[in-house]
Amino acid sequence: MNIAELFDHKKTLFSLEIFPPKKDSPYNVIYNSLLKMRGIPADFISVTYGAGGSRAQQDKTIEIASLILQTYHTEPVAHLTCVNADRQQVLETLQQLTDNHVENIMVLRGDIAADSPPKTDFKYASDLAAFIKAHQPGFNLLGACYPEKHYQAGSMEKDIENLKIKIDNGITHLITQLFFDNQKFYAFRDRAEEAGVRVPIQAGIMPITNHKQIERTVALSGASVPAKLRRIFDRYSNNEKALFDAGIHYAIEQIMDLIANDVRGIHLYTMNNVEIATRVSDAIQNIITAENNNL
Ligand code: FAD
Repeated sequence: MNIAELFDHKKTLFSLEIFPPKKDSPYNVIYNSLLKMRGIPADFISVTYGAGGSRAQQDKTIEIASLILQTYHTEPVAHLTCVNADRQQVLETLQQLTDNHVENIMVLRGDIAADSPPKTDFKYASDLAAFIKAHQPGFNLLGACYPEKHYQAGSMEKDIENLKIKIDNGITHLITQLFFDNQKFYAFRDRAEEAGVRVPIQAGIMPITNHKQIERTVALSGASVPAKLRRIFDRYSNNEKALFDAGIHYAIEQIMDLIANDVRGIHLYTMNNVEIATRVSDAIQNIITAENNNL
């Protein structure tokens, strides 16, 4: 199924993101997590792709996407990065995706690793989008966007100009980088609309539920941390259970506000954690259903 078509009859999508197990981690963990997540009514589940990973590691993205489709009958989105890929590799991956009936691709550049110079066939995600459309036009393409600007972009204006190239090259739907301050999202959405971005923008939400995430995810993403979330970190970072609950509640409040402000979808970064996915989903499903019934 082409996910873009869902927007014809749904106002608000709900989707999950998972990642393949890291090298040397057991694969049955992700299969068990998916088994437990199967009751969650997600419009699609996206599977990340390690930009610098080995071929075998990257094949796992397709394997898991295929499992999501064949076993759980949910639409998968396979992420695909181009920073370390050449044209031939991309053509092979497209063939594998076709063989596995995966129709939707999240088209990405990937981060440039300091110790591995990028390959030269594709410079930006927009180049990959154009290449896919030229060779296999049947794929539906999604892309990434950044409510607080991509870290390499000179300005938000320039970043949005570049986003438009990506859309002109075939991206039908955007998912944002994680953010904690909805005002940043609304300001970005307004600017993108003013600049002529007409494709649906789904909000990427990551509940911060443990101490490690505060240090790594929050620091690395560069996302602004509102005073309320900072207080949660300060008060509960030494209390595992309280921090978990507070992180979930913060995300649910954030989502409720986004829905009230007509967001076109929520994309939950689950970190492969079944409890996070289930608790957030349980809290918002009736509301999302009501939004879609009122369309
Ligand atoms: P691009 O859209 O190519 O943009 C990168 C930079 O180049 C931006 O600063 C942009 O303004 C600029 N730019 C774009 N086009 C042009 C142009 N024509 N001329 C000049 N400048 C230009 N990473 C992974 O490795 N695996 C994943 O599975 C993964 N999934 C992600 C999912 C989401 C929803 C998001 C938000 C990010 C994900 N990432 C993933 C991270 C992503 O790969 C990095 O953020 C990366 O640095 C940028 O990727 P992009 O596709 O947004 O790049």
